[in-house]
Amino acid sequence: MERYTGLIDKYRDRLPVAAGTHAVSLNEGATPLIELANLPRLLRRDVRLCAKFEGLNPTGSFKDRGMTMAVTQAVEGGARAIICASTGNTSASAAAYAARAGIACFVLIPEGKIALGKLSQAMMHGSVVIQIRGNFDDGMRLVQDAARSVPVSVVNSINPYRIQGQKTVAFEVIEALGDAPDYHALPVGNAGNITAHWIGYSESAGADTLALKLPGGMREYRRQKMVERRPIMLGYQASGAAPIVRGRPVENPETVATAIRIGNPVSWQQAVAASRESGGWFAECTDEEILHVQKLLAQTEGIFCEPASAIALAGVLKDLELGKIGAGSTIVCTLTGHGLKDPDAAIAQSAKPLTVDAELKAVERVIREYLPKS
Ligand SMILES: *Cc1c(COP(=O)(O)O)cnc(C)c1O
Repeated sequence: MERYTGLIDKYRDRLPVAAGTHAVSLNEGATPLIELANLPRLLRRDVRLCAKFEGLNPTGSFKDRGMTMAVTQAVEGGARAIICASTGNTSASAAAYAARAGIACFVLIPEGKIALGKLSQAMMHGSVVIQIRGNFDDGMRLVQDAARSVPVSVVNSINPYRIQGQKTVAFEVIEALGDAPDYHALPVGNAGNITAHWIGYSESAGADTLALKLPGGMREYRRQKMVERRPIMLGYQASGAAPIVRGRPVENPETVATAIRIGNPVSWQQAVAASRESGGWFAECTDEEILHVQKLLAQTEGIFCEPASAIALAGVLKDLELGKIGAGSTIVCTLTGHGLKDPDAAIAQSAKPLTVDAELKAVERVIREYLPKS
């Protein structure tokens, strides 16, 4: 078997990359599709629930799929620096891929609103971290303005190569299941990822989509029909940051799920097109629901995702309850990022460690107290 060297090498013929272009890669992609073994039984739901665990990418989120493409093309185009606005994971990924490519990286993040793990990554990989007194949407505007006046290449999802890299997640799901699932659920922040999923599924089904706009100058590539159908797309937003659900931008978005704390999504229209074409819908979950399901997943399945990721499953469980998703369905949830990204959120909602004297008796007492009763 050939060694896996990342998603550009694997899917080069289905991506807008030239045959001879050197891929800037950290072997991203090829993440596991994990069938949830306990939750459907516990909740008495006759469904097949699978988690595409994108937290197992090299920097701990799906952003690596887009970043390998964006940085590969930036380097190919002669860029010596990249820039992005970020709620955290984009900056972590950009910093790592810039380091890999040997170019400079500037990241704009909202002051005090970024999870600790993500901040530590951007710092550790040597990017220049610029905290702004404002939110993600302010950062996005500043990045676009800056790129007009200084020689930096923008690697936010307005960069069309990001979406192209991210579409490969759908290829992998189809390979794992042998077909498209009935439903595919994911969190929606800037809405690039739901757009990318839909493009990946559409190309795999030989179908056109309004969500795909190949900008002028972008290289054409092969669309390979693999399946007969596409899934119904389900997009979930946090109640305090639900512009698409409400149908208007949110001035001051707030949610514990910082990765989707976005009030005016860049890919709004494409996401709405994807949802409509698929027969899907957008819905919201509260912070309490998000955290509850994050913990439920960690404690019943052994999968630790970050709060924003948990909303995919939280939304599905709610829509199962409401009867909007039928029995017997195969549902894939994209778990977008790893739980270690946000240790504060995890510790804040978990039982505190017990402190005892270093004596067998004390340890035994605790074990007896917590041992499952037979
Ligand atoms: C970026 C991100 C999202 C949101 O994805 P969009 O493409 O902006 O909709 C969700 N979860 C995590 C963990 C992320 O890093």
